[in-house]
Amino acid sequence: FQVPPAKNEPVLTYAPGTNERTELKKQLEAFRAVEMDIPMIIAGEEVRTDQKVSIHPPHELKHCLGHYHQGDEAHVHQAIDAALNARPKWAGMAWEHRASIFLKAADLIAGPYRQKINAATMLGQSKTAFQAEIDSACEFADFLRFNVQYMTQIYGDQPSSAKGIWDRVEYRPLEGFVFALTPFNFTSIAGNLPSAPAMMGNVVVWKPSKTAIYSANILMQVFREAGVPDGVINLVFASGPVVAREVFDHPEFAGFHFTGSTEVFQSIWKTIGENIQRYKTYPRIVGETGGKDFIIAHKSCDAKAVATGMVRGAFEYQGQKCSAASRAYIPASRWDEIHSEIKKQLGELKMGPPEDFTNFMNAVIDEASFNKLEGAIKEAENHPDAKVIEGGGCDKSVGYFIEPTIILTTDPMYRTMQEELFGPVLTVYVYDDMKFDETLTVLDKTSIYALTGAVFAQDRYVIEKVTKRLVNAAGNFYINDKPTGAVVGQQPFGGARGSGTNDKAGSLINMMRWVSPRTIKENF
Ligand code: GLU
Repeated sequence: FQVPPAKNEPVLTYAPGTNERTELKKQLEAFRAVEMDIPMIIAGEEVRTDQKVSIHPPHELKHCLGHYHQGDEAHVHQAIDAALNARPKWAGMAWEHRASIFLKAADLIAGPYRQKINAATMLGQSKTAFQAEIDSACEFADFLRFNVQYMTQIYGDQPSSAKGIWDRVEYRPLEGFVFALTPFNFTSIAGNLPSAPAMMGNVVVWKPSKTAIYSANILMQVFREAGVPDGVINLVFASGPVVAREVFDHPEFAGFHFTGSTEVFQSIWKTIGENIQRYKTYPRIVGETGGKDFIIAHKSCDAKAVATGMVRGAFEYQGQKCSAASRAYIPASRWDEIHSEIKKQLGELKMGPPEDFTNFMNAVIDEASFNKLEGAIKEAENHPDAKVIEGGGCDKSVGYFIEPTIILTTDPMYRTMQEELFGPVLTVYVYDDMKFDETLTVLDKTSIYALTGAVFAQDRYVIEKVTKRLVNAAGNFYINDKPTGAVVGQQPFGGARGSGTNDKAGSLINMMRWVSPRTIKENF
């Protein structure tokens, strides 16, 4: 069979007077009016416990959106059993039926669920309408539709056969269950991590970030309504250590699909290593982790483009994208011009709750994040090598608000030129124009992470040089553009070094990780 060719879901604008804006506003009000009760979903059953945890918008801590039911060891165990029980039928299902379920899920998310998933992401994760739209509705629909296309490419990839022989390859699901541990910052990624392996015939235990359960609940409704059979994707809420004990001790643990911090990924990798002899098969480990994404401008750059790249790259979604620009290297001869353009753009930006569509920035996700960011800002204010030149204000009286902040440093090795903060703080190092090559060397040396990066230059020799010199410093490299906003099917996304296994989310490479091929040779 041929599947319909995947196309990117068109992004709606939410401009004043549009239908989508009216519908989204209605949905936001509807969500605010009731406290949602969110159960776990195990073997297709709603599971409630007496441990209810309340959910509050990060930008309005006084408001309660509802609560979820926290599980324990027994629930995780049940979820693994449910997945393994569902496995024989699901793994045996012809691929076009699996494809059909996930194509329907894409149509649901882009259609009747569009404003629900956007509103849930806006309220639960403090995201603007536009950022929610490009993430939860469009990117998730894109992940589903493009992955179905990659799936057919994988199944269609067959070897040649000599005369009298028929060689073929069967792309089996992994032998066991896959564990998906998903982040708060992209609802699309939270949906992609369980659905990509499931599409390839795997069964999944899914634990979402505790700060994104409000939208994960909607994603799970979409999976169920689209026809994902009971037990194929099981949604559990339990603490990290509890889930880890049950999942990584299990002999049928066969794959791990992760987006989150480098620290958590490395510690889980070690646990998997320690348990390796327990498992029936070597587990597939796929992870996208941290970033310390750069912008390097050359003296031949367009100053306005650099400033726009810095402001949008660093501050959209409060800098809470793995791809966010968090360090910039600017030539001294162009800094004043770039800085005054940044000032102008920042002056036009507003911060506040996402329900007010004129706000460009909302709150950071939680108190731990707020404290970490505030600490780094305070440190820069008191450090001889650093200065806070824009923003710096932190206020948690209503929600976790941090102003868009720029730290200027005289030291390219300064802490925040190297460490990930995951928030709206950009550190700038202004280099002597004559020392461009040395700057490239220090940039590469401090690229412990290698997720995204951008060069701004008009001189083509410079563009060529930087592209070559920084070959391993970014998995997604941008020329004259901000380093965020990769589009599924257009810029496959992921990085190496400390940033992950670089199995590009929403790509053929990623989908290949969820199958275990069997080669069959038949002699006629
Ligand atoms: N794909 C997103 C982008 O290009 C980032 C994903 C992430 O933050 O994990 O901006």
